[in-house]
Amino acid sequence: ALAIGLVLLYNRGLRARQRHLKREVARRTLEIRSANERLTELSYQDPLTGVANRRRLMEAADAAIERAVAKTLPIGLIVIDVDHFKEYNDRHGHLAGDVALRAVAQALASATREQDLVARFGGEEFACLMVDASIEVVARCAERMRALVEALPPRTLGNDNQTITISAGVMSRVPAPGDHAADLLRDTDSALYRAKHEGRN
Ligand code: GH3
Ligand code: MG
Ligand code: MG
Repeated sequence: ALAIGLVLLYNRGLRARQRHLKREVARRTLEIRSANERLTELSYQDPLTGVANRRRLMEAADAAIERAVAKTLPIGLIVIDVDHFKEYNDRHGHLAGDVALRAVAQALASATREQDLVARFGGEEFACLMVDASIEVVARCAERMRALVEALPPRTLGNDNQTITISAGVMSRVPAPGDHAADLLRDTDSALYRAKHEGRN
């Protein structure tokens, strides 16, 4: 009876330990999953401004192109470049430049519709992907961005006397099968180039 009692006790201990291990594994699995989600999020985010990064925009654009081709819907794109930003940095310092980039990113994002994606493309360049948007809708959005950035007070930009402006290129078209984000960007870039040459802002 004593031996049986000991075996039963031992078994009960084993089962308790097993339950504890199961709970522990489940807890760790959750931790790893949420750490992975956070890493994925970070790999798609621009660390300075908090908006999406280039990778995120290119992936979203390629996916949007596929859907737009299938449904014969237009895709809109805006490419934005801060005007004379080298001068701004030279005059007010790199830190003020960083503050200005953050303020510009926020202004751009606030000019968009819910479904649009603003991304920092690198340096002082941004882009905005607009699914199912006609050229009128895209151009209106770019104009809102331009006006909002021009109206940002120097204080918000990190200095006490200078405002800044942006130039933008816009496009909208129903993509052709086989089109990639890079193809749409090339067209939009040449529009930006024109905006720069025709006087900026
Ligand atoms: P343009 O109107 O023709 O675009 O002139 P620009 O001076 O804006 O263009 P340019 O390409 O000559 O200079 C871009 C500047 O942007 C140079 C660089 O120091 C600055 N820049 C790029 N990335 C960052 C950043 O992360 N932080 C800061 N503060 N400045 C940056
Ligand atoms: Mg540039
Ligand atoms: Mg520039």
